[in-house]
Amino acid sequence: TADAHRPDALVIGGGIGGLSAALALTRKGLRVRLHERAARFGEVGAGLQIAPNCTRILADHGLLDEAVALGVLPEHIVMKDAVDAGELTRLDLQDLERRYGFPYLVIHRGDLHGIFLRACERGGVELVNGSHCVAYENIPGGARVTFAGGGSDEAEVVIAADGLHSVARGLLVRDEPVGSAYVAYRAALPFDEVRGNGVHERDVVVYVGPRCHFVQYPLRAGRMLNQVAVFESPKALAGEADWGTPDELDRAFDGTCAQIRKGLPLMWRDRWWRMFDRDPITNWVDGRIALLGDAAHPPLQYMAQGAVMAIEDGWVLAEHVGAQRPRRSRRSSGVDWAAALAAYEAVRPEHCGRVITTARAWGEFWHHDGTRRLRRNALLRSRDTYDYTFTDWIYGPTALTPEQEPEPCPTIPLDSVELGTPA
Ligand code: FAD
Repeated sequence: TADAHRPDALVIGGGIGGLSAALALTRKGLRVRLHERAARFGEVGAGLQIAPNCTRILADHGLLDEAVALGVLPEHIVMKDAVDAGELTRLDLQDLERRYGFPYLVIHRGDLHGIFLRACERGGVELVNGSHCVAYENIPGGARVTFAGGGSDEAEVVIAADGLHSVARGLLVRDEPVGSAYVAYRAALPFDEVRGNGVHERDVVVYVGPRCHFVQYPLRAGRMLNQVAVFESPKALAGEADWGTPDELDRAFDGTCAQIRKGLPLMWRDRWWRMFDRDPITNWVDGRIALLGDAAHPPLQYMAQGAVMAIEDGWVLAEHVGAQRPRRSRRSSGVDWAAALAAYEAVRPEHCGRVITTARAWGEFWHHDGTRRLRRNALLRSRDTYDYTFTDWIYGPTALTPEQEPEPCPTIPLDSVELGTPA
C-alpha cells in the first residue's frame, strides 16, 4: 500500500552502520525510517580507529570537521613487542594522510555515533526506538518487517544493519558466529591518570605478544586515553562455557612489559567482549532485503575496519541509488532497487570478505610465540615505514564497482625470514 507516510527505505538497527546508511540514503532524497531495538540510542564508551577510507566518506557527508574536532589525529601508529617493549615498526600518519588524501582519526564511539545521530535528525530520518525486529519478508514491490509484540512496517527496501546476531542474515545463510577464543577488555579514562607513565600522548600504540595484545591511544582532543587488552582465553580452549572472565585477564599478560602492566589495573572489569567473526558470504541481498555492516561481515577487529566497512557499505549503496537520479512519483521513490542492490552486492562482499580473512591472518601473526615471534619481529623491523603495500588496498578510495582483476592481498612471508642473532 502506498500511503503518504510510508518511507522509501527502512533501516533496522541504529548502530554506526544503520545510522550512517540512513543518512547516506536520505542525502540522495529518500525518505528513511530507522528502527532500533534498544530504548535509547547509544554506543559503548570506548574508542574507534577510523582509517582514511572512511574519513574520506565522513568528508563527503560533511561530517569530517566535527569528527576531527571531537577526536584526535594521531601522529603515528607504533607497533611494539609486548614482551620487551622494543619498537617493531611504525606508520607515519601525516605521510599516510598525504598518500590517501584524508586523515587517520581516532574518536570516542559515542561521539561518532552522536555525529551520525544528529546528522540523521537534521536530514529528516524518522528514528524509532524500542522496535525489536523478529522477521523479514519480501512483499510485492518491497519488503516488510515484523516486530516482537506484533506490529509491522514496510517500505520499498529494508536494510538490515542488525549486527553480529542479525536476524535477517538467516534469510541468506544458515551460519553461526565463529568464536576465536580471544576476548577484549576495554577502558577509557582521563589522560591525567596516566600522564608521566610513558604513555604516548599523540600515537596509537599496539603491543603484540604471545596470545595477547594491548592497544593505547588518546581520545577527545587528548583528554582521555583508550585502552584495549585482548587475549586468548585458556577456559575457551578447554571448552568451558563461561570464558574470558576477569580472573584470566592478568594471567594472560604475565611476562609482558612494564608499560602494559601499568595499564592493566585500569581496564574495566565489569564487561568484556568475546571475539567472534563469521565466515565471508558473497550473497547479501534477498529480494528487497539487504544486509549491511556487522550483519553482513563481522570481522575480528585486528584491522580496525568493522565500523569503517559498515560506513562504506551505506555510502556505496547510496551512490548507486544517486547515480540513477531517481524521479519520484506519487507511488514510489523511482529507485530501480534491483539495479542498486545488484551493484552493491557486486562490489562490497568481495572487499569485506578479504578484510575478514586478512584480519584472521593478522591476529595469528600478532600473537606468535617462540621462534615465530622472533621471525615476526625481524620481518616487522625490516619493514620500511613508507612502504604502503599492506595498506593501499584498504585505505585507498572505496570502490563502487568490482575491479576486473583485484590485486592479490599481500601475504606475510614469515617462513622465509632468516633469523640472525635473536633480538
Ligand atoms: P552494531 O554496532 O552491532 O549495531 C547493531 C544495532 O542493531 C544495535 O544498535 C542493536 O541494538 C540493533 N539491533 C540488533 N538486533 C536488532 C533487532 N532484531 N531489531 C532492531 N534492532 C536491532 N571497527 C572499526 O572500524 N575501528 C575500530 O577501531 C574498531 N575497534 C573495535 C574494537 C573492539 C574490541 C571490537 C569488539 C570491535 C571493534 N570494531 C572496530 C568493530 C566495530 O565496532 C563494529 O564492526 C561496528 O560497530 C558494527 O556496526 P553495526 O552498526 O554494523 O553493528
